[in-house]
Amino acid sequence: MPILRVALSIPIDTLFDYAATEANRSDIGLRVCVPFGPKKLIGVIWDVCSETEIPADKLKSAIIIFRDIQPLPADLLALFSFCSKYYHHPLGMVAVNSLPAKMRGLKPVTFKSETQNVVYTLSEYGRQIDKSVIPARNTVMHKLLEALSGNARLNSQEARKISLRTVRILKQWVAEGWVEEKHCKTLPDTDDSVKKPPLPELTTEQTAAVNAVTMQFDRFNTWLLHGVTGSGKTEVYLRLIAKALSTNKQTLVLIPEINLTPQLESVFRARFTETAIVSLHSGLNDTERLRGWLQAQQGAARVILGTRLAVFTPLPDLGLVIVDEEHDGSFKQQDGLRYSARDLAVYRAKQAQIPVVLGSATPSLESYHKALAGRYHHLRLNHRAVKNAALPRIDCIDMRSEKSKTGLTAHLIHAINNCLSQQQQSLIFINRRGYAPVLLCRSCGWSALCQRCSSRLVVHLRDKKLSCHHCGHREDFPYACPHCGDPDIKPFGRGTQRIEDTLSELFPAARILRIDRDSISRKNAWQNILHAIHRREVDILIGTQLLAKGHDFPNLALVGILDSDISLFSTDFRAGERLFAQLMQVSGRAGRAEIAGRVLIQTEYPGHPLYQALQRHDYDVLAQNILAERKMAGFPPYVFQALLRAEAHSLSIVNDFLNAAHKLARSITGSQKNKNIEIFDPVSATMARLKGMERAHLLVQSGSRQSLQLFLANWCQQLNALASHKIRWILDVDPLEF
Ligand code: ADP
Ligand code: ZN
Ligand code: ZN
Repeated sequence: MPILRVALSIPIDTLFDYAATEANRSDIGLRVCVPFGPKKLIGVIWDVCSETEIPADKLKSAIIIFRDIQPLPADLLALFSFCSKYYHHPLGMVAVNSLPAKMRGLKPVTFKSETQNVVYTLSEYGRQIDKSVIPARNTVMHKLLEALSGNARLNSQEARKISLRTVRILKQWVAEGWVEEKHCKTLPDTDDSVKKPPLPELTTEQTAAVNAVTMQFDRFNTWLLHGVTGSGKTEVYLRLIAKALSTNKQTLVLIPEINLTPQLESVFRARFTETAIVSLHSGLNDTERLRGWLQAQQGAARVILGTRLAVFTPLPDLGLVIVDEEHDGSFKQQDGLRYSARDLAVYRAKQAQIPVVLGSATPSLESYHKALAGRYHHLRLNHRAVKNAALPRIDCIDMRSEKSKTGLTAHLIHAINNCLSQQQQSLIFINRRGYAPVLLCRSCGWSALCQRCSSRLVVHLRDKKLSCHHCGHREDFPYACPHCGDPDIKPFGRGTQRIEDTLSELFPAARILRIDRDSISRKNAWQNILHAIHRREVDILIGTQLLAKGHDFPNLALVGILDSDISLFSTDFRAGERLFAQLMQVSGRAGRAEIAGRVLIQTEYPGHPLYQALQRHDYDVLAQNILAERKMAGFPPYVFQALLRAEAHSLSIVNDFLNAAHKLARSITGSQKNKNIEIFDPVSATMARLKGMERAHLLVQSGSRQSLQLFLANWCQQLNALASHKIRWILDVDPLEF
């Protein structure tokens, strides 16, 4: 009797054996439903063999093997294995949780594959139909017929735009012989008459980059495409994708923000009109995600554009991987399996022996370090692609000499005024990280705290509420200080709303738009905002890091930066790197086209090396300085880190667990031949309470990746034995946040 070895999504890192009446090795990678205790679980068949160590009376039988979808390919299973070993996360949880939700259910998936990539045309018979046989009131049918007239071909997506009923009508017409239905692998070119705009002539730097990669298109290499903002990295991606398409290969493009997907997707669609492009991100519903995943797996989709989870998509003809804005922290998942999609993208390229391109204006120091060491190929684009577009001029406004009550200096106000009079746009960027208006009592120093998190509540003046930006808790403003009774409690610090109020007082005629998480949470809100900016319906934009990422605002002339100093003195060793990247990005929004850009930074430390480097647009000097500091201090990328994160309802449980883990770690390194593992004392997390849980962690690091991994494997096993149900813990390999 065949035995299935199944990976299940439970926190025990082992495979489970089940008997199957009929199965063979070609079933590896299929989903299977099995009994587990009183429950039924879905798992992935990892192996099919003929023997098991489970005694016959204990061995259970699998309930059903799903054959609705092709088995997961071997390279995807290998990716899951790697991920499980590298991040020390149970294999079944890695595998099952990376699948689209619909494939994790206990039922086979049903999907209408027949409407995918189907085009409809009028048949000979259909052309001769007398339209008057359709009642005039049936407008949908008339519109549909209209859309099919001439030689038009319509796919189901386009048909659905007319009405949701059209696909049913089309099926009916197919049955009646009016319409013909054709299956095609790629989406049809729906309008042959539209001439594509000519491709822009590449700059010398772009040509060099494209040539370098295409010359070695058939082997694994990691290319760091390091190009200043506006240098035309997207055009380089487009040419490389064209090359992949011409050799019949699929391309995986990873981007950090779901908000950037529609923009890039439309650029791709405009360039590759005959290519099936799918985008995969968390904004899709379960059906859409499954559909995209299947199109990728069946090879119907040739370009797959997605956020981090898309790295787990099966891609049978993968020929090129691109990671845009590779430095962006959102490539790292911050709960559950804490993977880095960028690092896994490199792994996939290596696995498939194909090129991977990491693009950024401000590469992560990890990638930059590898480029300097020659492990990545460094491709530079030092100039803006558009003729005569220069990088913006950056100046510091010394806040020590220009005191200001409103948070805006006279200097900056003057510059905004100038922009307004020339009908140009300005952007006020507020560094929100660790900085937001809080409620403070001047008499006793009391400030409003979240009951469940060790976090200050943020003031939202508009609706007179306090809210916790970590757990979402909201409460009303108190009328007086709950501690000393003083009624004169005031917000301290400047949030986006206060700056907006100040600006509307100063410039009553200006059209001001504030952008934050709240204002873009609605569907399509972001698209509408971008349109408004492009149509020049906005004069002054106010926003946080959301605005910093890769958007093109052609009419933007001025960027004002507020409150960035706070990050200069952070305890997080990556704060400087992040601030620099963010300011470079946001500065890069100014002066993209004909307009010369200007950036003004309000600071009390105009002489700080970070601002100095920024003013000269000198990434290299700053990066090399920070790297030298990191080397001295023994920080990544010169060491490899892992963080044991623990949380529980009571602090003593967390401490007991971490102390025991610490002792274990010492005994392991004491007995291991390799003694180059550094173990730190447990400390509380930056956010010591979150959603009512007490949190602390323990850092371990090593100069050798291999020693660290060896140690972690050992440690992890013993931690499993140590842990109780009261404690939640996880290993975070290559942590970005502490
Ligand atoms: P990046 O992603 O490097 O910041 P983009 O890809 O957004 O830069 O390109 C910036 C601008 O330059 C875009 O408007 C783009 O259309 C334009 N561009 C790119 N390549 C060229 C080229 N070779 N010639 C002219 N314009 C170009
Ligand atoms: Zn008080
Ligand atoms: Zn909270």
